[in-house]
Amino acid sequence: MTQFDIAVLTIGDELLSGELPDTNTATIGRLLGAHGYALREALTVGDVEDDIQGALQQLVSRRQVIIVTGGLGPTADDLTARAAALAFGQRLAVNDEALRQIRDFFRQSGQAMHPRNEKQALLPQRARVLANRRGTAPGFWLQVEGREVFFLPGVPAEMTAMLSESVLPLLEKHHGGAPPRRERILTVFGLSEPKAEELLLTYPLPAGVTVAWGVDFPMVLVKLRADGEEADSLLDRAEVVVRRALGEHIVALGDQTLAQVVAGLLTDHGLTLALAESCTGGLLSAMLTDQPGASIFLERTAVTYANSAKEQWLGVPADLLVSEGAVSEGCALAMAKGMRQAAGTDLALSITGIAGPSGGSPAKPVGTVYLALSAAGQERVKGYRFTGDRQQVRRTAACMALEWLRRYLMTRNLEGI
Ligand code: ATP
Ligand code: MG
Repeated sequence: MTQFDIAVLTIGDELLSGELPDTNTATIGRLLGAHGYALREALTVGDVEDDIQGALQQLVSRRQVIIVTGGLGPTADDLTARAAALAFGQRLAVNDEALRQIRDFFRQSGQAMHPRNEKQALLPQRARVLANRRGTAPGFWLQVEGREVFFLPGVPAEMTAMLSESVLPLLEKHHGGAPPRRERILTVFGLSEPKAEELLLTYPLPAGVTVAWGVDFPMVLVKLRADGEEADSLLDRAEVVVRRALGEHIVALGDQTLAQVVAGLLTDHGLTLALAESCTGGLLSAMLTDQPGASIFLERTAVTYANSAKEQWLGVPADLLVSEGAVSEGCALAMAKGMRQAAGTDLALSITGIAGPSGGSPAKPVGTVYLALSAAGQERVKGYRFTGDRQQVRRTAACMALEWLRRYLMTRNLEGI
């Protein structure tokens, strides 16, 4: 493979004003990386013809491949084709192939074509068309001074499809294939990033595997990467090492989430679940009902915020709420048991705590959370002191509840939690 540098140019006022996050650059970087190519540079300009023209000229002077997104539509703010023609000293001309594609698109989707859409066929004279099966704007590419410049629509789904279907095959044809880059992500819960790194450092990884760290609060992501034909087997070996180092803190693999893992385990075990939430306000329920097929295992959930709700819906004794308070071991356990009795499920889990910023006391500071799980013949309750702001405490509590379920389902034993 010959060495070459790739740059991305994204175009759009809304990308600079903050109205719209630039996901195209991230998508392109990820897809290029997956094919063994690295993105060297990314630039964003607004819908200003001079700026687009200037950016194209600059990038062509220092990079071999440039991928441009946005501004190919039929509206007045879509200036990319004109700016490209100016930048590279070409005339704009109706491209017959592009016109045919636009007409075909309208015919196939049964819509009437607005005359303005013909503007999308007006391309730099030496442009070669890239098919767009999902939208009206054809892409195109140009060879300029030995460089290649690809122009793709801004709409993420159209851009992504054209990158995979047209641009990557052309890069491979012109520059040769790159060795594949593989990534494997392990999701870690219950360890901070530095602590996880410290534990992992004592175990050598196979040569050729690199580690990158990420956070998806409260989870820490261990990203293992390797290149080349051996990448998959290197990652298999590296995964064994990471599992040895971080053990039971690894809660999910790949792009799976902890909620997905728990939903899969509940389904596989054929067990039913009910939830009683207080400080998390339904967050745990939302995480589980996000999973398609949740109705197989989830019977009901209740958000019992006030003491009266805990009493009326879950049968938490009024005197317990007075003597121990709503944020207590006794209350958490009564919530879980009351919920399991009401729902008749195999399992019931409860969460009660103080998410803050107010409501804490010296005995029960903000972040105090009790979880309880009730199963046939077994029950477990435990208190935690989570740190962080209101959202962080709520998220950590919901994730800890998922982790309780995961551990119970792996061992069918509440002792290990
Ligand atoms: P269209 O034919 O839809 O007008 P276009 O090529 O002209 O396509 P733009 O008008 O620049 O593209 O963008 C169309 C839409 O695509 C934008 O409204 C925006 O939602 C989305 N989009 C554009 N650029 C990006 C980007 N860099 N990241 C994420 N979304 C983007
Ligand atoms: Mg547009």
